[in-house]
Amino acid sequence: MDIRNLRTGLGMDVHAFAEGRKLILGGVDIQHHQGLLGHSDADVLAHAISDALLGAVRGGDIGKLFPDTDPAYKDADSLRLLAEVARYVREQGFEIIDVDSVVAAQEPKLSPYRDAMRENLAAAMGVPVENVGVKATTTEHLGFEGREEGISAWATCLVARI
Ligand code: MG
Repeated sequence: MDIRNLRTGLGMDVHAFAEGRKLILGGVDIQHHQGLLGHSDADVLAHAISDALLGAVRGGDIGKLFPDTDPAYKDADSLRLLAEVARYVREQGFEIIDVDSVVAAQEPKLSPYRDAMRENLAAAMGVPVENVGVKATTTEHLGFEGREEGISAWATCLVARI
């Protein structure tokens, strides 16, 4: 393979906490007293990975693909959106090689959910679970994540034109 056919992508996303919402991260329903607010299920991790993939193929962003003004995406399962993004990446002639990500949340503790998130995300993208990394960090009580006002997620990916 010609290394000039490799592309990297970067994605990030933020959602605010709200009472009465489920907390869905990487497609996993996480036990917590509040969840994230959004038009879809507000899966900030799936959104960051989706944007990383779209960035790598210069495909815009998920706001362009799945507008939050479109009722079709109300409470949408973001793993399904991620699967659609992965299909779009392949339609552009690329294969997904590797994905890594980090979620910044003061609470709750996410490490018990890490492998379930990796498995869900890998299945949605159609890649081996070994090729999907998920990490979690607090922000030492600093910033909006540290004040438990919301959660941010960052993701990078490597794709190859095949
Ligand atoms: Mg989002």
